[in-house]
Amino acid sequence: MKFNFKKKFGQNFISDKNLLKSICDDAEICSEDEVLEIGAGMGALTKEISVHAKKVVAYEIDEELKPYLQLMELKNLILHFEDALKKPLSDIEKDFENGYKLVANLPYYITSPLIFKFLQSTKIQSITIMVQKEVGERIVAKCGNKNYGSLSVCCQYFGQPKIMRKVPKTVFNPQPDVDSCIVRLDIENKFDESVDKLFKLVRICFKSRRKTVLNNLAEGLNLNKTTIAKLPFDLNQRAEQLSVQQFIVLEKLLHNYLGQDVKVPIEQ
Ligand code: SAH
Repeated sequence: MKFNFKKKFGQNFISDKNLLKSICDDAEICSEDEVLEIGAGMGALTKEISVHAKKVVAYEIDEELKPYLQLMELKNLILHFEDALKKPLSDIEKDFENGYKLVANLPYYITSPLIFKFLQSTKIQSITIMVQKEVGERIVAKCGNKNYGSLSVCCQYFGQPKIMRKVPKTVFNPQPDVDSCIVRLDIENKFDESVDKLFKLVRICFKSRRKTVLNNLAEGLNLNKTTIAKLPFDLNQRAEQLSVQQFIVLEKLLHNYLGQDVKVPIEQ
């Protein structure tokens, strides 16, 4: 079979067998685990996961890969040829009785939306994904660091993300332009409604990184500064100076002082 790689789907397949095994080690997949894989490609990682896990549910957007994936005839594999970003989370999770681990070598342009989507799950146990090196650095960055932003805060609300290994571009076929790394996040905090508000607030605070939190909030919430300045919180800092814990405090203060009717209007 001849296959033409499609750039529009971010197709960079892993060509290194040791790396496939290492990804499963990084995710600590064991025989009790149910695993969700997004972007199965030709199934290199899918096959390795299926050796270690109880069950693998894999999504692939490109129907041309169907013959490759079906030929593997893996007994513990459920395949979906669908866009995992578009499919509602609740539908994706119908395949899992209990919790599941997300493991993926993702196309880089869907990394952030996909992370935000799965952070909204109440069933997910951990996320172990290949990301562009710079995105990995953003995910693990601590407050005060130039890479610290909404992706860092939102991921670190749930646990302590770690860069498990660096991955050079040479292990992919075709080779991407950038280096990568494997990041793992164990989900220790469960998603609830307040997290949704927190995420929106964090995005507003980071809207203009050079502006103070006060200015970003005034603009983002469409409120005047004097009202917001009444909050017992130092709002003259920039968002990158606030720890995850401080964002949580700020969200509660906004909610309590400014009333429940304060809606965060912008979905960015
Ligand atoms: N896991 C394979 C392939 C990685 S390349 C390996 O490591 O070798 C990323 C794969 O994700 C491609 O096959 C691409 O077609 C698929 N993909 C891209 N966007 C997707 C989406 N929204 N939903 C599901 N699969 C997607």
